[in-house]
Amino acid sequence: MEKMPVLFIGHGSPMNAIEDNKYTKQWKNIANKILKPKVILSISAHWYTHNTRINNDEKLKTIYDMYGFPQELYEVKYDTIGSPKIAELSKELILKKSKFDNSWGIDHGTWSVLIHMYPNVDIPVFQISIDADAPAIEHYKIGKQLKSLRNQGVLLFSTGNIVHNLRLVDWNMSDKGYDWAYKFDDFVFDNIMNKNYEDIVNYKNQKDIARLAIPTPDHFYPLLYSLGAVDDDDKVSVYNKSCELGSLSMTSYLWE
Ligand code: ZN
Repeated sequence: MEKMPVLFIGHGSPMNAIEDNKYTKQWKNIANKILKPKVILSISAHWYTHNTRINNDEKLKTIYDMYGFPQELYEVKYDTIGSPKIAELSKELILKKSKFDNSWGIDHGTWSVLIHMYPNVDIPVFQISIDADAPAIEHYKIGKQLKSLRNQGVLLFSTGNIVHNLRLVDWNMSDKGYDWAYKFDDFVFDNIMNKNYEDIVNYKNQKDIARLAIPTPDHFYPLLYSLGAVDDDDKVSVYNKSCELGSLSMTSYLWE
């Protein structure tokens, strides 16, 4: 079986789910470019828990984990079939303690993107949570442990934002970022191009720009799962390299 790529998406505002814009166009382009996955394993910034949890349900429901948006957004449906088999296998592959938990479903980090990539909702999807208590290196290691799933038709799909500081969002900076946002986004970009993932895992060494870009690591950690799953001979492509609203970056990466 052909090896599946690894994908990290900067998902930005939930409104992208119902918009047709420059970001969502690229998401569609990615889906058209890559092999259709047999299963999508999603690591979303929005399932941020104590311990690592794995959804192994037969069917997953759409979760509306965002507040104060137009009604139209709460009518988007992305109910999928799950993949108990790959969920079970993931649990075996992850060396740290993890448990099955079906209290969650498909959250907006996942559906706001997949609704553009795979609008027919015809691929099994399941999510693995991000352990909020685990250090950065642990997330990178889980990515490594899951890497072999790429040989089984599984798309390792991570969804977050490399720069994500909602407190500093400036609605007047629609297509621009603060200087520090570009600096941090470029720091990650340069290290991805040089395959120097260690510096990305140790992002806290970037001091001030890291503190501003990542006030909490929920949206950043999904990238570390991707980096762990990358092979040396993968070729990387960059999409939506940009910042918006001052303190968000939309930069996305595909390794294949
Ligand atoms: Zn988000």
